[in-house]
Amino acid sequence: MSAPILAITGLTKTYESGHQALKGIDLEIRRGEIFALLGPNGAGKTTLIGAVCGLVRPTGGTIRVNGLDAARDWRSARARIGLVPQELSTDMFETVANTVAFSRGLFGKPRDDAAVERVLRALSLWEKRGAKIMQLSGGMKRRVLIAKALAHDPELLFLDEPSAGVDVELRREMWAMILKLRDQGVTIILTTHYIEEAEEMADRIGVIDKGKLILVEPKADLLGRLGKTEATITLA
Ligand code: ATP
Repeated sequence: MSAPILAITGLTKTYESGHQALKGIDLEIRRGEIFALLGPNGAGKTTLIGAVCGLVRPTGGTIRVNGLDAARDWRSARARIGLVPQELSTDMFETVANTVAFSRGLFGKPRDDAAVERVLRALSLWEKRGAKIMQLSGGMKRRVLIAKALAHDPELLFLDEPSAGVDVELRREMWAMILKLRDQGVTIILTTHYIEEAEEMADRIGVIDKGKLILVEPKADLLGRLGKTEATITLA
């Protein structure tokens, strides 16, 4: 069996306020899977993503990305990760193609029109390459955020609450897009409040609460045990 794309052991984070947001997380992510991290507000989902992506400095524990120790070899580890944040964070006056090319540049990759085209086509944005972000629909803007995150060809993609604040139609569109990316070989970790989202897409589901990973199971086992209704009431 190949090494996990992500291996987290004993990860802790205590913010300066004294709040303990992560209390010893152990987690392995397998290459090619979709892993859904499910949990209520304040559970520690964003902190966990931030720690893996180098945005939050862990208090303790280790993070290995494709075998690389993220604390020692941060740049190489980070280059393997794409992050789609919750908020729309991009220059509205820039074109779609330039936005993706610029993101490649942030990882020290040269402007490569073929690579930009590949990413835009994967997200059905190629026809919109010359459009300014402000001219796009909400769904297309979300796709641009994913394209930005994929611009440097990462192997592991984090999506922080991809369907927060979006309508049902757009949520379905996002789900289809995420499944397509997985089929193209990207390993995906998404955070969500919704068990329906995890149910729709994930191979495995992890439930985090108050900074602890309280269970990690294949989707079928978890849904079979909890039942959809009970899980929604407990976790949403
Ligand atoms: P949500 O679903 O609302 O985004 P979450 O599961 O992503 O929540 P986090 O944002 O990781 O949770 O927050 C975990 C806990 O850490 C919360 O209690 C939050 O208030 C706290 N927290 C987050 N960032 C900071 C910070 N910079 N300083 C102090 N406490 C923080």
